[in-house]
Amino acid sequence: MAKVQKCERCTKRYRGAGDWNAILRDGEVVGVLCPACQTPEENSEAVVNQATVVYTRDAKGRTLGRAKGESGHFEALAADLLRRTEEAVRRLASLAVETGITMSLDDAVQMVEDGLPADYPMPADSGIAGRGAMIGRMARDIWSGDAYED
Ligand SMILES: [Zn+2]
Repeated sequence: MAKVQKCERCTKRYRGAGDWNAILRDGEVVGVLCPACQTPEENSEAVVNQATVVYTRDAKGRTLGRAKGESGHFEALAADLLRRTEEAVRRLASLAVETGITMSLDDAVQMVEDGLPADYPMPADSGIAGRGAMIGRMARDIWSGDAYED
């Protein structure tokens, strides 16, 4: 693939901005189309590509496309777990005030686990760095306030 990327149809140069459409083959960018040359179908494809493909430049200045994979997926899960854990800690904290019974972090983990759907994408048995451990760390950080520091 050439260093300077040009539109496959009108040979306009791609300058790294705009709704250009990457032509993907086997997950690799093999060409680009400028917005003016895209058919409406290709144009909506460009939007999809932006949402699901991460573009990077290699040392030779080539644009590489790869699907948003594990890390993006994992971050979304972590954000979801954090939100659920915050809610559990808040509920347990107010329960502790009402009943005088001190909450434990295990209770928070259990409450989050109980609220997760059976088909949650991060399975319960995903090892020592898995779901329960992660919820435990989040609960501890939220409880101590660490989760809200920069
Ligand atoms: Zn063009």
